[in-house]
Amino acid sequence: MSRTPIIAGNWKMFKTAGEAVAFANEVKGKAEIDGVESVICAPFTALPALADALKGTTIKIGAQNLHFEDSGAFTGEISGVMLKDLGVHYVIIGHSERRQYFAETDEIVNKKVFAAFKHGLTPIICVGEKLEEREAGKTKDVCKVQTEGALKGLTPEQAAQAVIAYEPIWAIGTGKSSTAEDANEVIGYIRSVVAGLFGEEAAAKIRIQYGGSVKPNNVAEYLGQSEIDGALVGGASLEPASYIALVEGAK
Ligand code: PEP
Repeated sequence: MSRTPIIAGNWKMFKTAGEAVAFANEVKGKAEIDGVESVICAPFTALPALADALKGTTIKIGAQNLHFEDSGAFTGEISGVMLKDLGVHYVIIGHSERRQYFAETDEIVNKKVFAAFKHGLTPIICVGEKLEEREAGKTKDVCKVQTEGALKGLTPEQAAQAVIAYEPIWAIGTGKSSTAEDANEVIGYIRSVVAGLFGEEAAAKIRIQYGGSVKPNNVAEYLGQSEIDGALVGGASLEPASYIALVEGAK
């Protein structure tokens, strides 16, 4: 089964709306390559301008979070209804920075995954171990618990459509990346967890990215692995030339 590789930039809390539009104008036509899906996950405030600037291109936009309710007294939150209304396709859920700084649990992640599907958004669900968990030999256990927690209660069809990003926390923004072989092994294991929950067909369809210090010079190595279907990229997605090189490297 062939899976379309997906490069997703995670801009985190960087770029104003104006900066996002300038970026879009630089990457249009260049970060659009047949056979590779290109996604930019921008801050909420940049999404309307980015959607407008990328109209007519194949580059999709994503958010970095959503609230699990559609509306209500949740000051400062943004719902799936609001994201869909802007033309957003993807939403990152359960990034380790949200788990660490905003106390997101597997239960909350699961509710957000349901909210994403309810509104036709594709979740990019982040899982991955801390350094001490890796050193204690718990990488696979942690990924299993987080994957099962995030996907609990979905239909096999929904699971097949989701994207998982395996991001070892010690590799995020540190310049230390997992070896491609190690990442491939863990991602193959995560796929087997999905197979256990939803069957072989869903497991063969679900796309699982690697994330953690991916750069233009190592992206092809990850993408060349049998189980790795793309990359979720923070720092190296912020400059147009670097982002274009990442998308080119995924081909
Ligand atoms: C991320 O933010 O998801 C990430 C992987 O960051 P970086 O590429 O900077 O390590």
